[in-house]
Amino acid sequence: MNPGLPICVVEPDSTEKKAAAALTMFRARFNVAVNTPGIEDVKQQLRDIRRRARDNMASLVQALKTNMDRQYPQIRVKSAVDNNEAAEYIAEISDGIKIISTNGSSTVAEELRPGLVARGFTVVNSYAAEFRVKERKTLDYWDLPRLSEKNLDGTFAPSVRLTGLPETETRNYLAVLGVNTISARDLTVFFVQHLHNIHVDLTQARKVVLIAGLDKIVESKEDAAFQAKCMGIFGMENRLLAVEPEPDTAVSLAGLPLLSPGVERELHLIVLDNDRTRLLQSEFKDLFLCIGCRTCNSACPAYLSGKPLRPRELTLNLKKHLSEVGSELLKEGGDAEAPPAGAGESPAAKVITEDQIWACTTCRACQEECPVEVKHTEAIIGLRQNLVMDQAVIPRTAEAALRSLEARGHPWRGTRFSRTDWAQGLGISTLAENSDVDILYWVGCTEALEDRGMKVAQATGKLLTRAGIRVGFLGAEETCCGDPARRLGNEYLFQVQAETNVKLLQRYNVRKIVTACPHCYNTLKNEYPRFGGEFEVVHHTQLIADLLREPEAAPKEPVLSVAKDSSTALRMTTHALRMTTHALRMTSGTEGESQSVTYHDPCYLGRYNGVYDPPRQILSNLPGITLVEMEQNRQRSFCCGGGGGRMWLEEGIGRRISELRIGRAIETKARTVVTACPFCLQMFDDAIKAKGVEESIKVMDIAELVNDIGGRREG
Ligand code: SF4
Ligand code: SF4
Repeated sequence: MNPGLPICVVEPDSTEKKAAAALTMFRARFNVAVNTPGIEDVKQQLRDIRRRARDNMASLVQALKTNMDRQYPQIRVKSAVDNNEAAEYIAEISDGIKIISTNGSSTVAEELRPGLVARGFTVVNSYAAEFRVKERKTLDYWDLPRLSEKNLDGTFAPSVRLTGLPETETRNYLAVLGVNTISARDLTVFFVQHLHNIHVDLTQARKVVLIAGLDKIVESKEDAAFQAKCMGIFGMENRLLAVEPEPDTAVSLAGLPLLSPGVERELHLIVLDNDRTRLLQSEFKDLFLCIGCRTCNSACPAYLSGKPLRPRELTLNLKKHLSEVGSELLKEGGDAEAPPAGAGESPAAKVITEDQIWACTTCRACQEECPVEVKHTEAIIGLRQNLVMDQAVIPRTAEAALRSLEARGHPWRGTRFSRTDWAQGLGISTLAENSDVDILYWVGCTEALEDRGMKVAQATGKLLTRAGIRVGFLGAEETCCGDPARRLGNEYLFQVQAETNVKLLQRYNVRKIVTACPHCYNTLKNEYPRFGGEFEVVHHTQLIADLLREPEAAPKEPVLSVAKDSSTALRMTTHALRMTTHALRMTSGTEGESQSVTYHDPCYLGRYNGVYDPPRQILSNLPGITLVEMEQNRQRSFCCGGGGGRMWLEEGIGRRISELRIGRAIETKARTVVTACPFCLQMFDDAIKAKGVEESIKVMDIAELVNDIGGRREG
């Protein structure tokens, strides 16, 4: 028989291209030429395709079925509401065959497989089995290029185009293959092939069942080809991290006896919903955009440090089990093995565990990399809210921090300091004493109340006063901005903090705020407007960079611009400010030993707010300082491990994220890692001690470094 359905197995079409692609991948992994031109266009085109598919899913599914019936009546098309129905259908058509071969598709491996195993099939992941044989030759076989326009047009030309299932070398097994994409209008199936398994299964299995999750259906052949190529582009460098070789007991498909020539082969198509329609009607509908490429995993510090969280799997699990997200989904349990569908226990009950939910640092590295802009952190915070507010389930240390926040206005239970201690002797007043200031210094809990953080507050305060800026702070009236509460899932407590603080700031008629904490900065700048708090908020790196700039390089609109409202106008003109700070810069001098430093981009300053240049401008303006970048910098910075409320959680699983990052800093041979966040500072301080590398490297806040150099020169 010749069903004639066009099936394109996408892979590089020459050895040279494979070799070039392998090299591209190798470079990409080691951060050489990461963002080659054109990638943003590729991402945009992919997003457009995915959004069109998402918004027209019902009509696409209908078109697919109608066109199939009309053009390929010999192919049986089955619509399955869930895994159970799909597995049941496969059992019905199996005709006594007991061996099923699958590809690496998550739809098959994670959704269907348990139900097939429960029905007595022996399921072989032919991709993993083949990978096991060839894993030592990664660069030879890992052959899809990561990105570039050229690769899109050339390297991805389909090397195999089947117009039917040939009847040679038929073996008695079923191939259940999750498609990468299928076009509803012109009915073309695309697979991305890394090894040879898909081609082999298509050409020798007696029965082939194609599984198309609703999220794999797009409109045109061009869209389908593009999405499949993107799967290769964005997924290539990450598969290595995820492949788990098949156990040695795997059945050898090649060892199965050949059937007699002429035996009838069959092709089936299952269109699998499995909660995808429900997803499209929910607030999480953007998860539908996910193409499963694993790029998010390769960037995730939780995953890379051995925690159970994998953002891609979390996305897919939320997608698949949305109807069960809620109390049932979030039951305790770390067993990654989902029970078989239909076996009496919810498959969702163990797919997302508490360990996974609390492992996230909310660093957004996953979102930064995701080509379709899936917002993992919002979903994770939503899951935490469910745990904390609906079920009162929260790790003990986090609970203690939030209780302290509620009772004392800060999460640092047991601190021996008051909110005014850091300012002793600096000549900086609270607003209660004098509210006629140019700018409010929002100190933040960690810099006001923690030993190490206080030194940053002092350095920042000194810099501001030395620059002649009239600065005030709130002192005992300041309370937590609410960031830890929101990130740890207590949205109610966050909102109480936000409303209280906005009222306080408005009472003092505060217009401009500087803070040295990226978490406070992000909260005050981006989250308080929803509560009526519209303030001009700057991070201390932005202000210091502006102050240290050469007068002739001063921006037209300096960070501390003269306010339009005369009642709060800055008294100091921009020119005077420049003169004063120029003097500060001059006192830094030009003599002394040169030292190399490396800069760590805090997630909430960089990825959340795009502040990458000011700290680097500061460092380049400091005499005797040479900046050496770490491999992962700017958008690709690797978290310190302290965000998302993780400052108040124990890191009992896997390696310490902060130690991984300090390891990278040490590789630069810099003697100082400079950062601009009190959490990073504390995490790295602890990591340096834990690793016993105090002789090799130390950590400083950027304000401390500037103040140190300026102070030394003056002294
Ligand atoms: S936000 Fe960071 S820690 Fe959380 S899932 Fe994404 S990459 Fe992993
Ligand atoms: S969430 Fe984004 S990066 Fe992660 S697998 Fe899906 S598409 Fe890829």
